[in-house]
Amino acid sequence: MQEITSPETEDLRELIAHARGHLRRLQARGVERLHVAWPERQGLLRGGSLTLAQVREELGECTRCKLHRHRTQIVFGVGNPNASLVFVGEAPGADEDAQGEPFVGRAGQLLTKIIQAMGMQREDVYICNIIKCRPPNNRTPETEEILACQPFLVKQLQAIRPKFICALGGPAAQTLLQTKEPISRLRGKFYDFHGIPLLPTFHPAFLLRNPYEKKTVWEDMKLLLREMQRA
Ligand code: URA
Repeated sequence: MQEITSPETEDLRELIAHARGHLRRLQARGVERLHVAWPERQGLLRGGSLTLAQVREELGECTRCKLHRHRTQIVFGVGNPNASLVFVGEAPGADEDAQGEPFVGRAGQLLTKIIQAMGMQREDVYICNIIKCRPPNNRTPETEEILACQPFLVKQLQAIRPKFICALGGPAAQTLLQTKEPISRLRGKFYDFHGIPLLPTFHPAFLLRNPYEKKTVWEDMKLLLREMQRA
């Protein structure tokens, strides 16, 4: 069979070889599944971005969803604005609502210990949640609350441009990866979040109720550390 060659087929071959190389590199970094971007998600983390302070200013005294009625204050996020690693949790609880900082209650103290066991301090990473106001009685965030807050989470990630994201628990992982898969199936593997490797793991509050799963999370954190060292 005669091979067809033209400048267009050469371009196409080059493009395919490039894509193949990119996929192999992602695979070598542990990415096992790609979430193909919807048109409106393409380039999500590209382009001119605001600073974290500007994102906070844009959020203002937010009333975009009903959670503003019950909150003491907005819990925006804390940590290094140039962090290589961002932890994304679910929602502020009572302690966070009172202090205005994410992960400061019992689950937060466990997260701090995990970060320290990884050889870092809270100040080295950035910590935030998919929603920024405490849901009444710490109930799971509703879809419309998540959607109202999502642009601000995206803008925070655009501002920081971390090298890695760790999603803590089902709601954070499912929101970022746009999936309904349970956290027990999602955890322990890297996914591509707009070019950033994202590792889901169990939420520290789950570990407080199920301490025997701490070793599972530690395995996930060791995997994350290995990838961070490799990057
Ligand atoms: N749980 C979360 O998901 N986030 C916090 O900030 C505190 C507890």
